[in-house]
Amino acid sequence: MAPDTPNPSPEVLSLEQPVPPAKVSLLSATKAFATYKGIVEALQPVTMEVREGEFLVLVGPSGCGKSTLLNLIAGFEFPTGGMVLVDGKTVSGPGFDRMVMFQEHALFPWLNVIDNVIFGLKRKKRLSSSDRREVARYYLNLVHLGKFETAYIHELSGGMKQRVALARALAPNPRILLMDEPFGGLDALTRERLYGQAQEIFARTRKTIVFVTHNVREAACLGDRVLIFTSRPGRIKREITINLPRPRGFYDPNVSRFAGQILAELKTELAEEEGVESHESSSHGHPVLPVADYFLADGI
Ligand code: ADP
Repeated sequence: MAPDTPNPSPEVLSLEQPVPPAKVSLLSATKAFATYKGIVEALQPVTMEVREGEFLVLVGPSGCGKSTLLNLIAGFEFPTGGMVLVDGKTVSGPGFDRMVMFQEHALFPWLNVIDNVIFGLKRKKRLSSSDRREVARYYLNLVHLGKFETAYIHELSGGMKQRVALARALAPNPRILLMDEPFGGLDALTRERLYGQAQEIFARTRKTIVFVTHNVREAACLGDRVLIFTSRPGRIKREITINLPRPRGFYDPNVSRFAGQILAELKTELAEEEGVESHESSSHGHPVLPVADYFLADGI
């Protein structure tokens, strides 16, 4: 148990314990968008499975359809072809079983920290308001922000905001957590500190996690498995299993080795993309990130 996590009440425990993580399946799922310029094909047929409790990382060039894939699982978008299933049932819209965390924290500035977390529990009708507060407190302690429950969002650092957002995403006790570059906007030092905490929290709450990043070291540090996507329209190019014990150090040489493998795959993909497009921007309107951006400031 995290050192500053108090003993949860039976109500909180019942929220934390009974939901087993879910399995996600995509069967030849495709997505195309109709735009005023014509049809934008975002995803080629993707067939993949995320196992119960697995931490799956999606890596690929900007604009290859990673966020689109998360949105399909979240139920914010629907596939043009094929199927997206959670535990064998077609995803028919958003639900409490799947929570999403974005790069931008999307917290409400007019609410304090605990009320932001409670907000995510508003639709849990069976909880009384004091239960909601207790659940929110429990998750704020889990992300080591118990002492900041009455602070306002503007008073927090970037890393703390993301931890509030994580507490808010965890509080409804989803079976699946969908994370779209959640640490992407943070400086390297803050991120590095968060990886340790994030691993502890994920081990403790055991969710099925689909995590999008373009930071190869982050992918190697956090993932059980990494799927590397081609440029748009995205399809799975390579799968790398990260069979390292946890918790993993961000600068562990074994993490570096896997990060190097992922980067090598991405470099090949970028080289192919640059072979047909200008260096500065892709024909899809997405800037092509220089290879250095896939390391970010972390080195490798
Ligand atoms: P990534 O997350 O890998 O950067 P996205 O999933 O955001 O990529 O986008 C994939 C492609 O689909 C891009 O070319 C993007 O412009 C396009 N796209 C995404 N959402 C929409 C939308 N709602 N309408 C039109 N095109 C979209």
